Amino acid sequence: MLIKNISALLGDELNFVSNTNIQIQNNKFKRIQPKIKPSGKEEHFDCEGLLMIPGFVNAHTHIGDSIGKDITLNSSVDKKIHPVFGAKSKILKNTSKANLTSFMKNSCYSMIRKGITTFVDFREGGLDGVILLKKVLSETPIRSIILGRIEFYQDVVQIKKNNRFPGEKIDEFNELIKKCDGIGVSGANENSTSVLNYYSKITKLRAIHSSETKQSVSRSKKNTGISETIRALSLKPHFLVHMTHASKSDLHSAAKKIRGIVICPRANSSLAEGIPDIEFMQKAGCTLALGTDNVMINSPDMFREMDFLWKATMGIHKKRINPKDILKMATVNGGKILKKNIGVIGNGKIADCIFLDKHSLDLEPMHDPYASIVHRASESTIKAVMIGGKIVHGKI
Ligand SMILES: [Zn+2]
Repeated sequence: MLIKNISALLGDELNFVSNTNIQIQNNKFKRIQPKIKPSGKEEHFDCEGLLMIPGFVNAHTHIGDSIGKDITLNSSVDKKIHPVFGAKSKILKNTSKANLTSFMKNSCYSMIRKGITTFVDFREGGLDGVILLKKVLSETPIRSIILGRIEFYQDVVQIKKNNRFPGEKIDEFNELIKKCDGIGVSGANENSTSVLNYYSKITKLRAIHSSETKQSVSRSKKNTGISETIRALSLKPHFLVHMTHASKSDLHSAAKKIRGIVICPRANSSLAEGIPDIEFMQKAGCTLALGTDNVMINSPDMFREMDFLWKATMGIHKKRINPKDILKMATVNGGKILKKNIGVIGNGKIADCIFLDKHSLDLEPMHDPYASIVHRASESTIKAVMIGGKIVHGKI
C-alpha cells in the first residue's frame, strides 16, 4: 500500500514533514520518502490534507472493570479498587462473563475510535480473567499487551515474615504466565520481598503499581520500614505505574535501575491523589509513558489525558512544558518502555497510526502540530485509524 502526499510526524523525535510518501508492506512501514511510485498493482491513496501520527499506546489500563463506570464515586481509593476488599473486586465476581465481555468489547472499540492502537492491560481474575480478555481481543482489531496476575495476596504478618511464594501455586502461576505477555503486580503492600523476587525471575514483561497514594506509601514504611518504591523494585520491573507520591530519592533509584514509569494523571486526580511531578521525573532521567488506568474511574481517551497533563502541570508549576514531550509519552515512549516495535512511524516499525484531518474545524489552521494534537484534536478530528497496516476505523 502506498500513502501519497501526506504530512507526518516521523521517527523517535516526531519530526514534522509536510509532504511525503509512505509505503506499507507486510504490516510494517517499509519506505518513507517523497516521490515513491506504486509498484505494479499496489493500491495507492492520495492523502493530501491528512496528518499521519503514530497510534497511541495506552500504557496502563484495567478494562475488565468497564462495567463499573463511576460507581462509588465518593469512597476512598481502597474502598473502590483495593484488589482484595475493594468494590471493584466484588462487582467483577458477581457479574456474568457475558456482561463483562460485552462492556470490555465496548471499551476496545471506544479506544480504537480515539486512535489508541495498543493498550497495556493489568488483568485481574487469574487465568480465567486472561482467557476472557483474549476472547474479546479475538473479536476486536486492537493490539493488546496482557499483564496477568494470579489472585494471591499476602497480609502484613506474612509480608513482615517475608513468607515465600507457596509451592502449591507454582503450576497455576506458570500456566498463567504462558498465556500472558508478562506480569502486572498489584503492589508491594500485598507481596513479600521474597514473592516479588520470585516474580522477578520470569523472562516476560514485569510491571507493578507503586506509590499511587499517600496511604500506600505510608503503609509500606509502617509495615516494613522500607519505601514502597524500593520494595517494588525487588520485582526488577520493566516499568513502575504511577509514582505520584514517590520521594525524590525513590525517583532517582527508579531512574537508575529501570527508567520506565507509566503515569496516569487523570486517574490519580479522580481519586483526589494529586498529579505526578513530570518535570522532576524527567530531570531524574525517567522515561515517561501515559496510561488511562481503570475504566471504572476514568475514560480510556489519550487526547483527554494529554490535554489534562499538559495544562494541569503548567497550571500548578507555572512553567512551560513542550507539548511534543507530552505527545511522546502517548506514543514513542510507550513503545520504548515495552521494548516493542510500536509507537513510531519509521522504516521497519509496525504500521500502527492515526490519520488526522488537518482541515477539521478544530485544527485548521495548524500552526503547531504538537500543540494542536495535545489540546485540540479529538475523536472527531480522526479520519482513520490503522493497526498493523490495516485500516480498522474510518476511511482514507
Ligand atoms: Zn492500575
